[in-house]
Amino acid sequence: MSTCNLVELESFSPGTHRCLTVYRYGKAGSGPKVYIQAGIHADELPANLVAHHLKGLLDEADRDGRVRGEIVLVPTANPPGLGNVLMGDHMGRYLAATGQNFNRGWPNVAAEAVAAIAGTTGGDAAANTRLLKAAVTRALAGRSPENEAQMLQLTLMRLASDADIVLDLHTDSEAELHLYVDPDQWPAASDLAGLIGAPVVMFARGSGDDPFEETLARPAIEARAAGIDVAQPLTAVVELRGEGDVDHDLATQDARALFDFLAHRAIIQGEAVAVPAFSGIAAPFSATQVLRAPTGGILVYRKPLGAMVKPGDVIAEIIDAAAPPGALSALVKAETEGRFFARSAHHLARPHAAFGKIHGRKPLQARTGKLLAD
Ligand SMILES: [Zn+2]
Repeated sequence: MSTCNLVELESFSPGTHRCLTVYRYGKAGSGPKVYIQAGIHADELPANLVAHHLKGLLDEADRDGRVRGEIVLVPTANPPGLGNVLMGDHMGRYLAATGQNFNRGWPNVAAEAVAAIAGTTGGDAAANTRLLKAAVTRALAGRSPENEAQMLQLTLMRLASDADIVLDLHTDSEAELHLYVDPDQWPAASDLAGLIGAPVVMFARGSGDDPFEETLARPAIEARAAGIDVAQPLTAVVELRGEGDVDHDLATQDARALFDFLAHRAIIQGEAVAVPAFSGIAAPFSATQVLRAPTGGILVYRKPLGAMVKPGDVIAEIIDAAAPPGALSALVKAETEGRFFARSAHHLARPHAAFGKIHGRKPLQARTGKLLAD
């Protein structure tokens, strides 16, 4: 059976305390390490439900001694965010005290860790990788948090930083299943995309503001850039549809797909897994058109999720309800050929606010600099 640790979180509210529940399977050092967390954006509850169902599958496999290596599962990654309820509405994306997005500004120790191993590495990639992981662990041990979001990030990063496979479970607002992976992890990660049935995969590196999975990959990326031969971990964000897709059937299916992925990667033994071929769109994040409202009003979609669109297709209208019926509304059009895969569940459009995404195959000229919406 798994062992459960309650990791005490440093308190930023006097007189209160919170704990993080961490499940561990297998044996450290007996094979690859896998780290899976759910709900760092605490209002993306389908992620937590999938982790809950995955736990049942892992419990069974571990009971039968079929875990090779180590799996660390954090089914509720953001206890402080679960407490962000304001006047009846749960807002788990940002730390209420400061407005910081919980998935931005993760502790980046890549330069420090790579500098620490310079001159100590050789031609053995496995040995170099161990040195780099140890340097990252030391660098993270030397950091201290200044607010509750940083405290949570440091706690989670210390659990994840030496993993070989990292899955960060999220959801969008309303969406089809989709993945973010580092460009160097494709097509290797097409097994994950095929098993989970994601029609959209985005290659993200240097998207800006240091999200979790990109920050975790950076030490290995920077070590390689410095000519040090190390293994780069698979660091993937799995976006499990939309926030409203809280459903046992979907969550059971998604948990099974993640379990099968671990079996296919030989972390779980004794499972024969057939991997469906990936047939979606896999392309750089810069090929994703972010749809924005030109003006405020009521957002009315003209295309369903999953629609294949081409430049000029009307995706949505922005209606001024006070205007006479039939008055011209603002139209938001596709500027690329691709798949309309994510959109906002909120229908009050605010000027210039992002409300949807189309993933195409060609990088878009306007998509430079920071690519993440918020
Ligand atoms: Zn999220």
